[in-house]
Amino acid sequence: MDKRSVPLSTIAKRGLSKRCPRCGQGHLYEGFYSVHERCPECSYRYEAGSGDTWAFMYITTAALTGFIVIAMFLLHPSNTWLGLFLVILAAVTVIAGTLPIRKSIAIALEYIISTQFDHQHANEQVEQKQENPPQGEGK
Ligand SMILES: [Zn+2]
Repeated sequence: MDKRSVPLSTIAKRGLSKRCPRCGQGHLYEGFYSVHERCPECSYRYEAGSGDTWAFMYITTAALTGFIVIAMFLLHPSNTWLGLFLVILAAVTVIAGTLPIRKSIAIALEYIISTQFDHQHANEQVEQKQENPPQGEGK
């Protein structure tokens, strides 16, 4: 199957459902947080460029922290300790609780980017062949 034939919306749905972005069958997680190294169904390597997924995780964690800080300025609890407890509880729940789905989205994005680069690379090779046809063709 040509990996570029999968529509972006399908890859996004697979990411949101924590499935393999390539085949849509294999589960990403073997536990709550631990990601399989490869898809159990199609052997796609999930974090081939782990720097890309970590960058996405840092950015989304920073964004969630920003929302929590804004909420701290907007809310004025009557009891400071209760407010502090609720902020810490919300931070842990939101940041840790969304970790698996954010990681899954990051893996799907990485797959989309890698297939787009492959597609561009393939187009460049076709253009080069058209400009400089290989010697010995037409024998
Ligand atoms: Zn797969």
